[in-house]
Amino acid sequence: MSEAHSPPARLLPTVSIVEETMRRARRAVAVALLGAGLMAALLLGQHQWSAAALQRAADRHAQAHKLAGDVRTADQQLAMAAQMAALTGDAAWIDRYEKLVPELALAIEHARLLAPQVDTERYQARTSDTTALLARMHASATEALKSGAADSARALFDSERYLSQTRLLREATEELTRASLAATEQEVNRQHTAALASTAAVLLLALAVGGGLWRWLTLGLGRSRHTLLEAEVRIQRLAASDLLTGLDNRAALHDAMHTLMSRARRHQEELAVLMVDLDRFKPVNDRHGHMVGDLVLKEVARRLSRCLRGSDLRARYGGDEFVVVVDEREGPGTARAAAERIVESLAWPMQFGEITVNIGATVGIARFPHDATTDDELLRKADSALYRAKQEGRGSVCLYDAALDEALAERHTLEVALREGIAAGQLVPYYQPIVDLETRQVRSVELLCRWKHPERGLLSPDKFIRVAEDTGLIGPLTMSLLRQATKDLPRFPAHWRLSFNVAPQQIQDETLVPALLAQLREAGVPPQRLDVELTETALVNDTARAREVIMALKRAGMTVTLDDFGTGYSSLSYLAEMTFDKIKIDRSFVRTLRSRPESAKIVAAIVGLSRSLGVDTVAEGVETEDEAQMLQQLGCKHGQGYLFGRPGLARNVGPLQSVANADAWVLAD
Ligand code: C2E
Ligand code: CA
Ligand code: CA
Repeated sequence: MSEAHSPPARLLPTVSIVEETMRRARRAVAVALLGAGLMAALLLGQHQWSAAALQRAADRHAQAHKLAGDVRTADQQLAMAAQMAALTGDAAWIDRYEKLVPELALAIEHARLLAPQVDTERYQARTSDTTALLARMHASATEALKSGAADSARALFDSERYLSQTRLLREATEELTRASLAATEQEVNRQHTAALASTAAVLLLALAVGGGLWRWLTLGLGRSRHTLLEAEVRIQRLAASDLLTGLDNRAALHDAMHTLMSRARRHQEELAVLMVDLDRFKPVNDRHGHMVGDLVLKEVARRLSRCLRGSDLRARYGGDEFVVVVDEREGPGTARAAAERIVESLAWPMQFGEITVNIGATVGIARFPHDATTDDELLRKADSALYRAKQEGRGSVCLYDAALDEALAERHTLEVALREGIAAGQLVPYYQPIVDLETRQVRSVELLCRWKHPERGLLSPDKFIRVAEDTGLIGPLTMSLLRQATKDLPRFPAHWRLSFNVAPQQIQDETLVPALLAQLREAGVPPQRLDVELTETALVNDTARAREVIMALKRAGMTVTLDDFGTGYSSLSYLAEMTFDKIKIDRSFVRTLRSRPESAKIVAAIVGLSRSLGVDTVAEGVETEDEAQMLQQLGCKHGQGYLFGRPGLARNVGPLQSVANADAWVLAD
């Protein structure tokens, strides 16, 4: 993957490469076609020429054949005509004989023309005397026949001399015709061979030219292919890398993970996927702009590379998320060590000119094949480990844990069900009385949420309030409860106030106060009847915002109570700074009033402090009469707890003025 990390190359003019290659290919094809055409023409011409030559030779051979036949026939006919003329003395035979003599001579002459020169010369030499002698003998025979001396003509034809001369001539003529036949046959054969040879030559030429052409074509195409491949590699590299950081991008990461995983599988090695999330990156972007944001991301990429081995895969996964894959050849601690190096390295401030930027990183780790065996699963599990790391606090490193994944899945199911439950009105208000410890008169009721879950029955807030707070469902839940509570209020005596819990997250919700007021207005409930309970956590996260909200609530006529006091930061500065109407002393002190002497001291201190600030105190979790009396002695004004009544539905709460014990408060459901 190392080449993928080099800086992105200049974009190539791909279009021109493709055009150039197309042009080259077109040229090559045109030349190939032209070459093929030429070769075809050459082959055709050669074929026609050889065929014509062969035809001519064959014709001459056939002619030689025919002439040989003609000579033989003429010779036989002449012999017969001579005999018949001599025997009969008939003028017709004499005539015929006279005509056949030159015919034979002509046929012989033709045969001579077809025979090779040596043979005609030999024939000439052998027959010149014979021909002359025979011509003379023919002349005298003809003379004798014409003058009626057939006997002397016959004697001439029968003479040994005439017979030997005609035999000689016949033999020579036969030899001549044989020679011409042989010569023409030889010619035919020669033409055959020539045709074959020339065909072979033309084919060889075609092969040579075709080969050259092919080589030229492949060379040209090879060059184009090389350029295209080079371009492809560069384009691939560009497509596979994140343009800003030069690290692999998401797609390349998946590809590389496949390769790494199959190699690890083969060698039975282990891998770890690190999901690195930057802390405080968004504020950097918001405050200094995207230019600085980009510089930060580049610096992160550089630092990542410094923390890791060259072979470790690193990719930009999303906006400010990075993924690193390391092999755990050197032991199972490698991944955690790498993650810690990354966290440490990214915790160092970054300097860009005048600007100093402080970010950090949180890391989730999933291992192959231990946690998952596919890239998607690994990434998902690393992400789930990251989620938990973030919950543990910025700069943490968490390894994936199946049990946690299950918890996460369960949380998700719960979230979905809760969303539906709120819409379906399954979240209902329960009320618990807050009484004056001295008179035991009910002053207020605290609205406590319950979920009438269709399958799991009645659920108390510890099962779902955290999820509601984390997923933003707390807003809709609060409004749904308040709507129901305003409908319940007419059941209660008009001087009972309603204590209402607001979660820390809701402090950030700009619509909170207007929505509360709108709801009260709609139901015709005066805001003075409402007491809002806030925990310290709400104040710590964003003090300025908390102060604004508290002021807005009070301006509207509501009172504000600091809930669970003593459990969290218990910062006295908040108490002094923000004007609460009441302080609720946490249950943990009430429960240990007798067992832990410090508890009583703390309660006394809180009460004293409240008095000096002019603020009332409420003790929660009062379960026994003893506790109630002790709290009263310590100066606590109000009490809330099972002693006075458990949380119950409005319709089960009697319209009491005072509650002596829990049984009087809640009627059986
Ligand atoms: P909290 O505001 O401190 O409410 C008091 C809790 O103490 C209630 O628990 C109540 O049932 C319990 N409690 C009252 N008297 C006694 C007692 O004598 N002994 C003991 N052991 N417990 C007593 P609950 O109803 O389970 O609510 C738990 C927490 O859930 C509440 O603590 C509050 O923080 C939160 N919560 C409940 N309803 C809402 C709501 O509508 N909105 C928000 N944001 N939070 C809510
Ligand atoms: Ca409360
Ligand atoms: Ca409380």
